[in-house]
Amino acid sequence: MSSSAEPFPTRLSDLEVARLRADFPVLAQRPHGRPLAYLDNANTTQKPRAVIDAESHFYATDYAGVHRAVYELAERATRAYEAGRAAVRRFLHAPDAHEVILLRGTTEAINLVASSFSRAHVGAGDEILITAMEHHSNLVPWQLACEARGARLVVAPIDDSGALLLDEFERLVTDRTRIVAVAHVSNSLGSVNPVREIVEIAHARGVPVLVDGAQSAPHMPVDVQELGCDFYAFSGHKVYGPSGIGALWGRRELLEALPPWQGGGGMIENVTFEKTTYAGIPARFEAGTPNIAGAVGLAAAIEYVEAVGVERIAAHEQQLLVHATEALREIPGLTIIGTAPEKAGLVSFVLDCAHPHDIATILDREGVAVRAGHHCTQPVMQHFGVPATVRASFGLYNTREDVDALVAGLRTVVEVFG
Ligand code: PMP
Repeated sequence: MSSSAEPFPTRLSDLEVARLRADFPVLAQRPHGRPLAYLDNANTTQKPRAVIDAESHFYATDYAGVHRAVYELAERATRAYEAGRAAVRRFLHAPDAHEVILLRGTTEAINLVASSFSRAHVGAGDEILITAMEHHSNLVPWQLACEARGARLVVAPIDDSGALLLDEFERLVTDRTRIVAVAHVSNSLGSVNPVREIVEIAHARGVPVLVDGAQSAPHMPVDVQELGCDFYAFSGHKVYGPSGIGALWGRRELLEALPPWQGGGGMIENVTFEKTTYAGIPARFEAGTPNIAGAVGLAAAIEYVEAVGVERIAAHEQQLLVHATEALREIPGLTIIGTAPEKAGLVSFVLDCAHPHDIATILDREGVAVRAGHHCTQPVMQHFGVPATVRASFGLYNTREDVDALVAGLRTVVEVFG
C-alpha cells in the first residue's frame, strides 16, 4: 500500500462500480426482500450481459461442430472457438496459443497434468510437492497419481497466519521431487503464494511447477512468462465466464512430452486397430466435442475483464478487503482465519457464538450470500482447528454497502446467539 492520500490509486470509482453492476442482471434481485449482497465470488462469479449475449448469439447464428468440417457455418464456429483460445493466451500473457488447452476448468486441468505427467515422469520412491493450503482439486489428483506410481505426496507447511513457510518449502524440494503444485491464491485463507520465488527454488533443482490459478486469474494480473511457471490452470466461471470451460497453459516442450490423457475423436493423427498416433498440441489433449459455446462465452468474459482492467479490479477488491477486515475485527467473538501479509479478494472467519452454517443461514435472510463450510480444503480447517469457516469473497461488482450488509448481519447473529 502506498502512503499517499489515495491508497488505491487505480481502483474503480463508486460510479464505475454502479455502472458495472448494471451489466449483471442477477444483481438486481432482492432475496428475502433485501438487496442482494453477493459475496461468494471465490465459489463462482455472476455473469455480465456481454457473456450471456455472446453465448446466445453464437447459438443463434454460428453454432456447428468445430474443426473437422469444411462448410462455412462450421468454419465460423471453429473461428469463434479458437478465438476463445486466443483470448486465454492474451489473458495469461502466454507466448503461444498452441500451449492453451481448453478444458472444463481448473479441476480437469490439474487432473490432466497429474495423470499424464506422472505416467511420463514419476516412478516408485519419487515425490510430488504441494502445500498445506491446497484446494482438494490440487491435492486429490496428486494423491491418485502417487498411488498409481508408488510415489510420495510431500506437503509444505503453512504458519498460523496461513502463509507458506518458504524455508520449509525449499528444504522439501529434493532430488526425488518430480513436480511442485501450488495454489497462487488460497481459496479458504486468501493467502497469496510467492510463486516467483517458488519457481526459482524448484527450477534450481530442475523441478517444474504447476500453478493452480483458480483464485488468482479473477483477482490479479497474471503473466505466466513473468511468473516463470510451467503449467497454469484456471476456471472460466470464476472470471465472470460460463461454467464448464477453463484452461490449462503449459510450456510447449513439456506438453509435447506428455502422453495423451483421454482418448477419442479429435486427438488423433491416425488410427488403426494395431496402432494409433496422436495429434500435436493442443488437440492431443482435447478429446471429444468440446464446450464450444463455453469458449465463446469465456472470450467475452476475458474481453469484459480486460476492458474494466485487471489491475483496477485488484485494487478495488483490496480496498474492500481492507474495509471488511477492519469492520469484522470490531465484532465481538469473531476470529479471522487467514491473516497472511499478502491476501487477495476474500476473508474467512468464525464466530465463537454460532456455527458457520447458522451464520450463513441468518445472513441469507439479510440478502447476504456467503459460503460456509470447509471450502474443499479440509486440511486447512484441521490446521486451524475449526470444522468450517464463513467466507466472504469479493468481485468487481461488490461495494462497501455489500460489506456493510455483511457486518450488520453478523451483528444480528451476535444478538441472536451471543
Ligand atoms: N483450486 C482452487 C484454489 C479453487 O478455489 C477451486 C474452486 N473452488 C478449484 C481449484 C477448482 O475449480 P473448479 O471447480 O472450477 O474446477
